[in-house]
Amino acid sequence: MFSSEKRAIIKAGITLDRYGLIALSGGNVSLRTQSGEVLVTPSGMVYEEMAEDDVVVMSLEGEVISGGRKPSSDTEGILYILQKRPDLNAVIHTHQPYATAISLLQDEFAVSLTTLANAAGGNVKVSPYSSPGSVDMGIDTVNYLGESLAVILAHHGVNAVGKSLKQALYAAVYLEEAARCYLAACAVGPTRSMTDAQARQAIEVFKFYGQETAAIPKELLKKV
Ligand code: 13P
Ligand code: ZN
Repeated sequence: MFSSEKRAIIKAGITLDRYGLIALSGGNVSLRTQSGEVLVTPSGMVYEEMAEDDVVVMSLEGEVISGGRKPSSDTEGILYILQKRPDLNAVIHTHQPYATAISLLQDEFAVSLTTLANAAGGNVKVSPYSSPGSVDMGIDTVNYLGESLAVILAHHGVNAVGKSLKQALYAAVYLEEAARCYLAACAVGPTRSMTDAQARQAIEVFKFYGQETAAIPKELLKKV
């Protein structure tokens, strides 16, 4: 059951590892199926060693439908996000070091790079501290997401979300790339932001990125 979705989840976890967003069994990946179940990675398992059967199939209310593994310790928070945001289907939780480092310094990561505007859809907020494994992680994510596709969880990591696994993965990976660049600049001196118009333009332009969309309409590309 859900073989291709489970394979996509494991592949996403391996991708997080490849880009340095998690180490060992840190973080987790969850996906709502078209029929409304939620697939959740097992707790404390390394993605490279995960098999399809290790991914747990759950109801949105938290009952295990199939799978012999203990689901992610963050399941309650993950299900809370998917319950409150029916427009979203994927939740990726990471311990990505650069974005998480921002939570030690400030309450928001304002758009200063096109990658952040592109993938996260705008500024990314830092939510207050909540314990790993708590439902509060999910409540804070919902409260601090707004229109964006990621929240930095203070002293812990990131929750990235999307309509699809791909969208959540891009939000997490590009948030990290942007955070890395931003912190490199911060180490040297005060940084500059993009204007609201530039950030809005970057968000719109990204909607035409990739193979599934048409070419970018020329009028979107005028200098702002
Ligand atoms: P799980 O392996 O239980 O999903 O926990 C990882 C984690 O990141 C906890 O916040
Ligand atoms: Zn965590």
